[in-house]
Amino acid sequence: MTESGSPVCGSAMAIADAAELVRKAKRAVVLTGAGISTPSGIPDFRSEGTGLWSREEPLEVASLTTFRVAPERFFQWFRPLAGQIFYAEPNAAHVALAKLEEAGHIQTIITQNIDALHQKAGSKCVVETHGTLRTLTCTRCYRKFEAELYLKRFINDGQPPICLQCNGILKPDVILFGEQLPHAAWVQAQRAARQCDLMLVAGSSLEVLPVAGLPMQALDRGAHLIIINNTPTYVNVRADVVIMNDVASIIPEIAKRALHG
Ligand SMILES: [Zn+2]
Repeated sequence: MTESGSPVCGSAMAIADAAELVRKAKRAVVLTGAGISTPSGIPDFRSEGTGLWSREEPLEVASLTTFRVAPERFFQWFRPLAGQIFYAEPNAAHVALAKLEEAGHIQTIITQNIDALHQKAGSKCVVETHGTLRTLTCTRCYRKFEAELYLKRFINDGQPPICLQCNGILKPDVILFGEQLPHAAWVQAQRAARQCDLMLVAGSSLEVLPVAGLPMQALDRGAHLIIINNTPTYVNVRADVVIMNDVASIIPEIAKRALHG
């Protein structure tokens, strides 16, 4: 272990230290962001210069206002992303986290991602703070539908999904800009953060509130903190271990050591 305030950076020792913390933890929570899904081919639309997203302004087009006023514009923007997410496969980091959960080393995964790649990898306890693309809700009659069939059709023909009961437009259950977080998921995420003895942040720059505040809630109650991300975060100075590297290569290493010594 390193002294608090002097985190280890990007070395084999940091991986060993992280694995040791994971092995010793009784209630470990993982917080994941876009960085864990980029190796699966899903662009981080909040990052500048990622091709697809630089053409339109996501803050404007991916907003609740645009969805209400001009849903066809939203769906046109959303179509390539929906396709990328729908056909994406979990990567080595998702798989390693699922194995750690199965072995009892991880209690909960809190994710800011809407791609369900943790579930595809086999993770069971996943809290989706920014919603999910697995379901759609009718904007008129509020019925909920499994997204698969509707999304497949939408990705193919570009026509916005329509409710079979009332002809209302179906909205993906993802949180758009200007929309509240899903209440139950947020309560669950906060509870997990406050009760954990270790939080592992993977692939999140911790820039989007309120989720970005969860590591502080964990730290304030004495939890250990591991940060694995390509860029610095505001809580790096308080972390036990910081690894500034690609999550898809680091997390499998940590899992291997935690599971097999
Ligand atoms: Zn309806």
